[in-house]
Amino acid sequence: MSWMPMTGGEGMASSYFLGGLYVLAGLVFGGLCAQKAVQKGLSAVGWFFAGLFLLAPSYAVLVLCRCGQAQSLDKTRPPLACAGCGTLHHPSARRCSGCGAELEPAAPSEVDHAR
Ligand SMILES: [Zn+2]
Repeated sequence: MSWMPMTGGEGMASSYFLGGLYVLAGLVFGGLCAQKAVQKGLSAVGWFFAGLFLLAPSYAVLVLCRCGQAQSLDKTRPPLACAGCGTLHHPSARRCSGCGAELEPAAPSEVDHAR
């Protein structure tokens, strides 16, 4: 009856514990990756499994890589408030619609795209 060492019980318990932690972390990073992927217009299911198995590295790749950001730049930029009067306007606006002050466009306008 030596198929299991005396300390096996303890080792089994800690390996189950680590396995549980791994699964838990996988679900957390899978969820984070899926959410980030949706924001970037990528496959949520594919990135969920990437986060599930690879944990933090896949999430870091998703956060750091710029894939999908260029196309959604205009849509995801929040409206900017005028420094003078606080009116909200499109980030590519060159002039405040509230007080007429000159603005520094935070994003290239559609006109610049066409050029
Ligand atoms: Zn203004």
